[in-house]
Amino acid sequence: MTKKNRTKESSLIVLVGRVNVGKSTLFNTLIEEKKAVASPIPGTTRDVCYGQGTWRGKGFTVVDTGGFVQRPENEIEEQITKHAQRMIKEASVILFVVDSRTGFNPEDRAYFKLLRKLSKAPVVYVANKADSPSLILGTSEKEWLSLGIGAPTPVSAVTGRGVGDLLDDIYEKIGQTDTQEQSEQPPIRVAIVGRTNVGKSSIVNRMLGEERVIVSSIPHTTREPQDTALEFESRQFILVDTVGMRKKTKVRSSLEREGLIRSIQAIKRADVVVLVLESNVTPSKQESRLARIAVDSGAGLVIVINKWDLIEEKQSISSSVYEQFFRKELAFVSWAPMVFISALSGQRTSKILEYVGAVESEREREITQDDLTAFIKRSISKQPPQWMRNKKKPVIYGFSQAGTCPPKFSLSVKDSTGISYAYLRYLENNLRALYGFSGTPVMIYSEMRV
Ligand code: GDP
Repeated sequence: MTKKNRTKESSLIVLVGRVNVGKSTLFNTLIEEKKAVASPIPGTTRDVCYGQGTWRGKGFTVVDTGGFVQRPENEIEEQITKHAQRMIKEASVILFVVDSRTGFNPEDRAYFKLLRKLSKAPVVYVANKADSPSLILGTSEKEWLSLGIGAPTPVSAVTGRGVGDLLDDIYEKIGQTDTQEQSEQPPIRVAIVGRTNVGKSSIVNRMLGEERVIVSSIPHTTREPQDTALEFESRQFILVDTVGMRKKTKVRSSLEREGLIRSIQAIKRADVVVLVLESNVTPSKQESRLARIAVDSGAGLVIVINKWDLIEEKQSISSSVYEQFFRKELAFVSWAPMVFISALSGQRTSKILEYVGAVESEREREITQDDLTAFIKRSISKQPPQWMRNKKKPVIYGFSQAGTCPPKFSLSVKDSTGISYAYLRYLENNLRALYGFSGTPVMIYSEMRV
């Protein structure tokens, strides 16, 4: 089940908690059926159970991650754990269940930490087995507050007491998520390209291991099996063609040509291209070619110089000297951000996704027509287009934005042959000086108007 095919009428409520806190009983109460096997023996729910329920006319799906153990000891447990983790990642709301009778348990904290790592969905904190007034009162005591999410809501899954309020609480939280989901931006598709052995796999593995990165296994409609979806600082990314890079025992082609073809295919599917170069190797023609293909396909570009740890004279020669060198070699993409990293030590690897996110925002940037009209007037008065030999006098009527991703502009002229390529470059440089557009190609066309 994916977020896409689960409608708002069927939000996903996922029950998480250590064994024997009463998740299966609560599951049954929520769906008003006896589906899960409730038993006092710890860990008896040996599979993830699904059920459908309704509350105040709205449907929901509830999942009990009953067999979810923190350290799987055999293959079945491992499968269950993987499935449970996937469910947590997909949850609209997580019901974090603790046991009011046993009191707060250090294992509760471990579960809470793990679920927070997996998901940003709202958490409803529930103390089950609150069957008596003294147990209900007990849930407001200090020991329960240490998670930083307030006191748990007391419920009794056996008697059903408090479950209605709990469902109201859940629906309030779902309402908040729905609004967030609607404003969600589409994922940024990223291709990490470069020649064999430059460190692409090492970079991908570093990225996926970052604490702030949530690797998602949600099958996304815009995602192919060889891609990896992840979330970083509330933005979704899809790393294009990364499965080969993620696998530890990989059979990768040693043929440079095949690698190049794969890179080109990945670039064509990407919004932003991360071109990886090596700090002590001069960029080759092939590498410049990859940058060129990225520009021509309208993708954003981030240049990553890897293996920075191998540079010994870092103390005496600063990175700016190296930057000058690489900029000279790749002068046609002078606008692309450049970052020096070491996938080996992890130095600055977290910057890559920051740059990718910033570059994508630049690709999406729109300039108002008023600003563009003022811009073209100023540009012409500073430097009018030259009258080229054997051409008609260049006359510019206007300048407007024709699109985004990447930003495209249309220069409306009397005769398009009268405007030189150099003049279009001059306008591009002016645009960049004024608005930035860091890391994104900017396209300017001259269009004839009669
Ligand atoms: P790929 O072919 O581009 O995916 O390259 P790999 O990630 O497989 O890396 C190729 C080799 O370079 C491996 O031996 C890595 O350990 C090594 N490597 C990757 N990144 C770095 C780095 O930042 N510094 C150093 N010294 N070695 C690195």
